[in-house]
Amino acid sequence: MNKSSFDTDVLIIGAGVIGLSIAREIAKKGLDVIIAEKNRFAGTETSSRNSEVIHAGIYYPKDSLKTKFCIEGNKKLYDYCEKYKIPFNRCGKLIVATSDEEINKLFKIKKNIDEIGLVDISLLSKKEIHNLEPELRCSGALFSPSSGILDSHSFIQSLLTELQDLNCTVAFNSKVEKVIHSNDSLITEVNGNNEKINIRSKCLINCAGLSSQSVAKKIIGLSSDLIPKQYFAKGTYFTSSKKAPFTHLIYPIPENHGLGIHFTLDLSGRSKFGPDLEWIDKEDYSTDLKKRKIFYDQIKKFWVNIEENKLVPDYAGIRPKISGPNDQSADFIIQFPEKNNIRGLVNLFGIESPGLTASLAIGYEIGSRIDEVL
Ligand SMILES: Cc1cc2nc3c(=O)[nH]c(=O)nc-3n(C[C@H](O)[C@H](O)[C@H](O)COP(=O)(O)OP(=O)(O)OC[C@H]3O[C@@H](n4cnc5c(N)ncnc54)[C@H](O)[C@@H]3O)c2cc1C
Repeated sequence: MNKSSFDTDVLIIGAGVIGLSIAREIAKKGLDVIIAEKNRFAGTETSSRNSEVIHAGIYYPKDSLKTKFCIEGNKKLYDYCEKYKIPFNRCGKLIVATSDEEINKLFKIKKNIDEIGLVDISLLSKKEIHNLEPELRCSGALFSPSSGILDSHSFIQSLLTELQDLNCTVAFNSKVEKVIHSNDSLITEVNGNNEKINIRSKCLINCAGLSSQSVAKKIIGLSSDLIPKQYFAKGTYFTSSKKAPFTHLIYPIPENHGLGIHFTLDLSGRSKFGPDLEWIDKEDYSTDLKKRKIFYDQIKKFWVNIEENKLVPDYAGIRPKISGPNDQSADFIIQFPEKNNIRGLVNLFGIESPGLTASLAIGYEIGSRIDEVL
């Protein structure tokens, strides 16, 4: 087996929306950037298996990274979509209480919204709900006008085109296998098409999504205390061949670890429902028609005319969780060198929803701190 070696300023592990966004910010500063991606294409894991919703930052604690990056990322993503002509629709979203008991939960969400300071989100009257969505069945609703949808595939493609113009190398079929570090550099062993390659970099950024923990375990010398336990929470989507009558996103009251089976449109107008939440041990993207009844029962709470036999399984994604079924949902973790005690190393863990919305803001944050990392 051959062994070649390359030098670069920054090596990024993972060409999902997070790795691509970080690379873009760093390459704009004139630094040499390589992305190592184990798959043949960019964004084929979590970045293309989600709801494609641009979130407003409603649900997370005020001082969390999720709130900060979601709110900043929401604005950056709409601006990006406009500038680079990415298909999007700022269609707005209703969060609905489907029983009188759920109204208190709606008030609790509103309290969090007020604490965060999201001034555009309001509780609607029955008449206002009816005017927006005549066929929606609910006891009350919050309206978020800045929530919307985008075409995540066009977004990924656009980031790749920008990176090409910025002379950033995206190495596909390149799996990171081991990292060693010295005082002034990190040496990463990459397996690409049965050829072992060593990449020496001043900075290494691990944003490998579902594999962030397994990659971190391959960094010789990184304390295992700094690697959070990993959980996978699968989310399946169904689509309905009967077109839903809604023009806004419709979300139920969220659960602890997910936002509940919600209604979203895609940009072709297709109705999607999901994701549900299923704890699994290993990556598995299969879908199961047996879940149809559960979906039907949930959707019927807000759309009475849904027909069960028109629901068909669509696709599934997996949330890279760092909190388990009995824990409170955890925040994003971004570990800079002062935390992980390895010069030049940045690790990202638990970048679940709203990671797509937050991607450009996370990229901006790491890009603006790159001088202190190098
Ligand atoms: C069901 C579901 C619904 C969601 N809905 C939304 C939503 O509506 N709105 C929103 O804002 N967010 C949503 N999210 C979250 C969002 O999709 C993720 O936060 C985001 O895509 C994470 O991007 P990433 O780049 O970190 O991960 P990924 O896209 O998984 O990218 C990581 C990359 O690292 C690569 N990699 C792994 N190991 C190695 C290795 N050893 N060597 C080289 N490469 C490696 C992988 O191949 C992969 O391409 C949802 C997530 C799920 C699961």
